[in-house]
Amino acid sequence: MDGKSTEREGNHDVEVSSIQLLNERLDLTLAFSKRYQMSSAVVYLRIFLPLELSHPKDNDTETILLNKISARLHGSLRDIDTVIKVNSRDFMIVIADITEHDCQVICERIIHSISAPYPNDFHYFSISSSMGICMYPYGSEERDELKTMAKIQMYDALELGENRCSFYKGDLNQTAYRKVIIENDLPYALKKGQLYVHYQPQYCLKKRAIVGAEALIRWNHPSLGEISPGEFISYAEDAGMLNGLFFWVFEEVCKKMKSMKDRRLKYSINLSVNQLLLDSLILDISNIQKQYSIQAAQITLEITENIEIYTVRKVNEKLHLLKEMGFTIALDDFGNGYFSFSDFIKLPIDFIKLDRDFVFSLLKNKKHKGVITPIIQMAHNLELKVIIEGIEDHTQFTEWVKLDCDLIQGYFISEPISFEELTESIAEIETRVAGDFSVNEPQ
Ligand code: C2E
Ligand code: MG
Ligand code: MG
Repeated sequence: MDGKSTEREGNHDVEVSSIQLLNERLDLTLAFSKRYQMSSAVVYLRIFLPLELSHPKDNDTETILLNKISARLHGSLRDIDTVIKVNSRDFMIVIADITEHDCQVICERIIHSISAPYPNDFHYFSISSSMGICMYPYGSEERDELKTMAKIQMYDALELGENRCSFYKGDLNQTAYRKVIIENDLPYALKKGQLYVHYQPQYCLKKRAIVGAEALIRWNHPSLGEISPGEFISYAEDAGMLNGLFFWVFEEVCKKMKSMKDRRLKYSINLSVNQLLLDSLILDISNIQKQYSIQAAQITLEITENIEIYTVRKVNEKLHLLKEMGFTIALDDFGNGYFSFSDFIKLPIDFIKLDRDFVFSLLKNKKHKGVITPIIQMAHNLELKVIIEGIEDHTQFTEWVKLDCDLIQGYFISEPISFEELTESIAEIETRVAGDFSVNEPQ
């Protein structure tokens, strides 16, 4: 299965020849099944490797482990069955001449065999899997439909828990179906021009003015409509697309900034902490900056720590470099992250953004409510500014103006809007919020 060129199957780069081989084998199996009136199965298998292999990525160990898993898979099947690795963690299996009952037995055997301990090198890793199955001819008679239905059932199995298999029985799990569409279509979204950026204003309580805006990516999907990054960013991460998306958003923002004479606003761009580890990050960023003549001082990088960091030292080094270049650094979703306090105080950051859910969970509890002010004070003592996000209404606004935070962001100020809407509505938003201040003068 060694091919030079690649195409996308699902969300990963795959050797063209393996997809071709899968399709050829499946076509052949379906032709035989039709002729001899046999039933056959298409199985989609996802392997869940231990987290310590993915962050930071340990390709060598991962490859050895996947080879061992592949050997176990072959050991659980007959010679006439086909096993194809379709991306870094998924396999497709074609089982010819099999009843649903026997297929269930085989799938359970496979799950059991994959999750059994790996003696010697990998005995401490626990590996789980999920399997989706679509039977020919009951589930479908079409090759591509069989493949898609098997993948949808894999997501259905995932909802049931670890190490489960799920057969297509005529009822489509709509949530699983949506996931497959998102995962399959995301790699093409950028090229097809379906992604765009919206901007959410950031309001300074002291200056009583909009001082910045956060760039938030959006996807206008042809059949599913608007999809928020909250729903697709994890697929982008799995598919290794986050770097591409970051640079695309970065360039979009720079283009818009260049088109504006008024350079009053600062623009925030989200950057996952994983991406800081990318060797070419600094060079690529400065190339785009130069291309559009944008000063780093006009950009804030919002760092999201959605994974446990094993390389805080490297993250710190990169942040220092970005600071030296002149960027402002904000730590996003503060309160929900993984940094220990001792790591946090060493980070060269300028802002913390208090996570909306974190703040609201504190507000709900009488005992916890009292820690919000000390958190803000602690940040100020560390010479950090504080942004509160997710202010939705007048009541929340009233609560927050009483506290000593610096910037606020949320639907109450404005929902994320297009760049053009943003530039046109700044004065209007500021006048409206000023009206609310006259009723709620900060203490
Ligand atoms: P985030 O950076 O914490 O962005 C804030 C999210 O809260 C945005 O969701 C925003 O629309 C939403 N939000 C703002 N005000 C309110 C409010 O008053 N109430 C409520 N309930 N929500 C509010 P969105 O746009 O869906 O983005 C979700 C997350 O996806 C972002 O969280 C960010 O982590 C990530 N994201 C967005 N754009 C990008 C991007 O270009 N690159 C990367 N890596 N991540 C991105
Ligand atoms: Mg953010
Ligand atoms: Mg946030």
